[in-house]
Amino acid sequence: MRGTKKHVVTRASPSLAIVEVKPDDHKDAVPIEAPIVSSYNDQIRPLLDTVDRLRNLNVMREGIQLPTIVVVGDQSSGKSSVLESLAGISLPRGQGICTRVPLVMRLQRSSSPEPEIWLEYNDKVVQTDEEHIANAICAATDVIAGSGKGVSDTPLTLHVKKAGVPDITMVDLPGITRVPVNGQPENIYEQISGMVMKYIEPQESIILNVLSATVDFTTCESIRMSKQVDKTGERTLAVVTKADMAPEGLLQKVTADDVSIGLGYVCVRNRIGEETYEEARMQEELLFRNHPMLSLIDDDIVGIPVLAHKLTQIQGMMISRCLPEIERKINEKMEISVLEFNKLPIVMASTGEALMALMDVIGSAKESLLRILVQGDFSEYPDDQNMHCTARLAEMLNGFSDNLQAQSQVASEFLMDEIKILEECKCIGLPNFIPRSSFLAILSQHVDGIHAKPVEFIKEIWDYIDVVLSSVITKYSDNFPQIQSSIKRAGRNLMSKTKERSVNRVIEIVEMEKLTDYTCNPDYMTSWTQKTTSQQNFINSVLHDEEKPDYFSLTGFGNVKISHLRHYHAHLLQQAFDMKMRITSYWTIVLRRIVDNLALFLQFSVKNLVNSQFQKEIVAEMVDTRAGGGIERMLEESPSVASKREKLKNSIKLLKESKDVVAAIVDQNSGYGDR
Ligand code: GDP
Ligand code: MG
Repeated sequence: MRGTKKHVVTRASPSLAIVEVKPDDHKDAVPIEAPIVSSYNDQIRPLLDTVDRLRNLNVMREGIQLPTIVVVGDQSSGKSSVLESLAGISLPRGQGICTRVPLVMRLQRSSSPEPEIWLEYNDKVVQTDEEHIANAICAATDVIAGSGKGVSDTPLTLHVKKAGVPDITMVDLPGITRVPVNGQPENIYEQISGMVMKYIEPQESIILNVLSATVDFTTCESIRMSKQVDKTGERTLAVVTKADMAPEGLLQKVTADDVSIGLGYVCVRNRIGEETYEEARMQEELLFRNHPMLSLIDDDIVGIPVLAHKLTQIQGMMISRCLPEIERKINEKMEISVLEFNKLPIVMASTGEALMALMDVIGSAKESLLRILVQGDFSEYPDDQNMHCTARLAEMLNGFSDNLQAQSQVASEFLMDEIKILEECKCIGLPNFIPRSSFLAILSQHVDGIHAKPVEFIKEIWDYIDVVLSSVITKYSDNFPQIQSSIKRAGRNLMSKTKERSVNRVIEIVEMEKLTDYTCNPDYMTSWTQKTTSQQNFINSVLHDEEKPDYFSLTGFGNVKISHLRHYHAHLLQQAFDMKMRITSYWTIVLRRIVDNLALFLQFSVKNLVNSQFQKEIVAEMVDTRAGGGIERMLEESPSVASKREKLKNSIKLLKESKDVVAAIVDQNSGYGDR
């Protein structure tokens, strides 16, 4: 037998530890360096360090998936035992649910003969040693998941730095149980399977499916779950434990591959009872070499050393395949973090500094307002039409002008307004003079007809500017949430003051038109002369036409009804007609004058608002201590902002480091995965 079978454990690769085994002296033949892989390409370590650092950064929460070997298996399938075998240490083993939180095992080969073992969880580091490791894990698990039987998805990281262990990181998850046992929560199955799914779902995960040789693989819960996320099994590797307990048919089981495991099977025999690690490896070696049935299984798929080697290779391949994408995502995440960091409110060291910052905010906001409201430069808001203010203001003014003209067309029966007023203003005098009072009265009536419009318009204008102003203020004071509300309040005060002042001014402008009938515009005389030419024809048609027509065609008025005018005296009709022509000619000029005045007034007040009122109002608000001591507040920082700043700072620092490490490795190792 010994002649045909190899003496060494070097099954798959020359880089594995060579362990000479002689059956008669196995007590002292195994080198202490026993674990598994002694020479694996050192390149893997910086890769793994990078991935681990990213894991500690919790980049997975940011949606960056890391290549991870995830150990899954039904309860008591031997998961912990496999990890133990790989790490060469004792883990909590046995019946019942021992692993209740994700246990990240980071195995790291070191040259020092003294193993270093420590646990990391909740930002705590707990040193331990081989002897106390099981207790330390149980204690840490109790801290994380409570001392009952509950599970938690906060990971616990176990670092094992030891001579001879392979450089791999694996995550051990709680075993999958269908039925809650004493003290376990009712939904234990949902909790655990949810956690397992979360870990095995990403394409970057390698599923290490631990199957007990004693069971039918097709009935394993862990197979059912891994198939859901990896149908073809291309990222699933199976470890068959307890080969010693069910050697019969094992060869057929792994060659038939009923459950389609893409990365293949490795059969192992773990530590039993109180065996030492070295004894266990030797027993495994002997078992697969000498057992009549197990020795038939191909050397390439048996033993912990083979498993270790396969895992390191798969892991290396996976990492180098994923790194470019990880690098991209890190950059993306970093950009976001830096942006967020820059947006954090700035803390001022002194009142002077705060004052300067405030002046800066006011200055920038003012510049921006000048550009959009006065100069018509909207390059700051290319896509926000509402901020293209000069155009919007011009549109509003045009709309107002149209609206005003349209309104003035509405009238009662032709000449009746004039006749009524003339009747009331009549006095003793010659009939061909129109009393001035009657003209002013009809003018006043016209003005009253439109006086609400300009006020509505100016209110609408300031409502619009209010929105623009508040959005500019918000934008420029965003870095100073401490004072943002004060600045905004100042903006609102400013707007309501301006609005009130403007409304009063507009009422004045309109009232002025009632008081005096004056224009130096020659259009008035031209228009009146032209309109009056048809006066005699009109009177004739009303009073003397034999046919008594109902309508008269009058240039500029269309077909006007005249039947109601027949019973008036000729001189009254003449006066009324004359007045109608005067008011019509004059009213056109009045309306234009109102629009012109409003346009000029608007330009003037907007400029005034931006150039002087704006700054004055904000400064006044900020130095007003009654309002809550303005600028002093810029010196304070809320604890939540402070902690966010600290977090972002750390995160950016780590991301930057990781980015550098990843970048260096990607450059140096491109093509590493093709080996
Ligand atoms: P887990 O629940 O999947 O973590 O399983 P454990 O690693 O705790 O193992 C369950 C039981 O199976 C323990 O009593 C182990 O000692 C035992 N066991 C694990 N692997 C082997 C093996 O290869 N051979 C034998 N005989 N027993 C094993
Ligand atoms: Mg376990």
